[in-house]
Amino acid sequence: MSRKRAYRCLNCLEHTVSREFDTSHLSVTCPNCGSFERFVNDAVFQQFRAFEESPPAEIDWARLDRTEKLVVSERLVRSTKTLADFDVVKEEATAGEATAGEATAGD
Ligand SMILES: [Zn+2]
Repeated sequence: MSRKRAYRCLNCLEHTVSREFDTSHLSVTCPNCGSFERFVNDAVFQQFRAFEESPPAEIDWARLDRTEKLVVSERLVRSTKTLADFDVVKEEATAGEATAGEATAGD
């Protein structure tokens, strides 16, 4: 199996390297920007970019910083998680949950 995976420099977002292994990210010195950077799996980056162009309705995408966005993208691409699994959105839901007075059957 010789399928190569592309990894993209998170500093310049332009340079990609390919490796034969499949991992979420790797750290190498970018020959383009000269910085020792985290290179993210390009499949993850594509998901990230798709959300940047068209934010998902399920989560408050704009509130996340880039790292968080990449983490979300990575989980979606590389695991079986769905947007519903992320807590980032659920803050209001838990806060609005009134404590339903449990009906004590005093019979
Ligand atoms: Zn770079």
